[in-house]
Amino acid sequence: RYRSGTGTLTAVQPADLSIHAGEIVGVVGPSGSGKSTLLRMVSGMEPPDSGTLTWNGQASAGPTPGSVMPISQDPLSSLDPRWPLWRSITEPLTVTRRLGKAERIRLAREALTRVGIGHLDPLARPRQLSVGQAQRVAIARALIARPALIVADEPTASLDVRTAQAMMALLRDLADRHGVAQFIVSHDVALLGTIADRLLT
Ligand code: ADP
Repeated sequence: RYRSGTGTLTAVQPADLSIHAGEIVGVVGPSGSGKSTLLRMVSGMEPPDSGTLTWNGQASAGPTPGSVMPISQDPLSSLDPRWPLWRSITEPLTVTRRLGKAERIRLAREALTRVGIGHLDPLARPRQLSVGQAQRVAIARALIARPALIVADEPTASLDVRTAQAMMALLRDLADRHGVAQFIVSHDVALLGTIADRLLT
């Protein structure tokens, strides 16, 4: 519930859901139906007013740091335009580890290969990328510290139909090959329906 003017606004009706490793849960619904709020609660960014969030079988204040990574609508927003790709991609690792530049470039190259763009130069800058490539780089960055869950709010919003389809196929592949659980919000039922194990409406 949010405070609105004099009263309160119920953004999300009582919901009960679980997400398992390697599973993609999709949320669809019209604008204003509470999808983003639910996503923020699942990822621990917004505490629910009531109810519990259970993480790895334990009711807790939320997921441990680094175990949930968001992917945004606008891929360029998660990449610093002044930085070479290797620096943005490996930045989440530097929170807990001290890494040399050569090692970071090597890890970035591996991460780019994992998201299907191993031919890109880790020393390139974001402005040299297409939107689809930028979204893959943003996903490479989100995956680098091996999170258990990826949350994505309209991850294909800025992509054309074909690039959006390829992006969804990549997310499915990451769930199948790397066991990454995903919670994806989209207004595009048809597209999300092709990769989600379950759709919540
Ligand atoms: P969706 O993602 O489906 O568009 P949201 O979760 O963004 O839905 O919003 C659900 C409802 O909660 C809407 O009526 C919206 O105006 C309201 N809302 C969302 N965020 C806030 C906020 N930070 N403060 C107050 N009201 C909010």
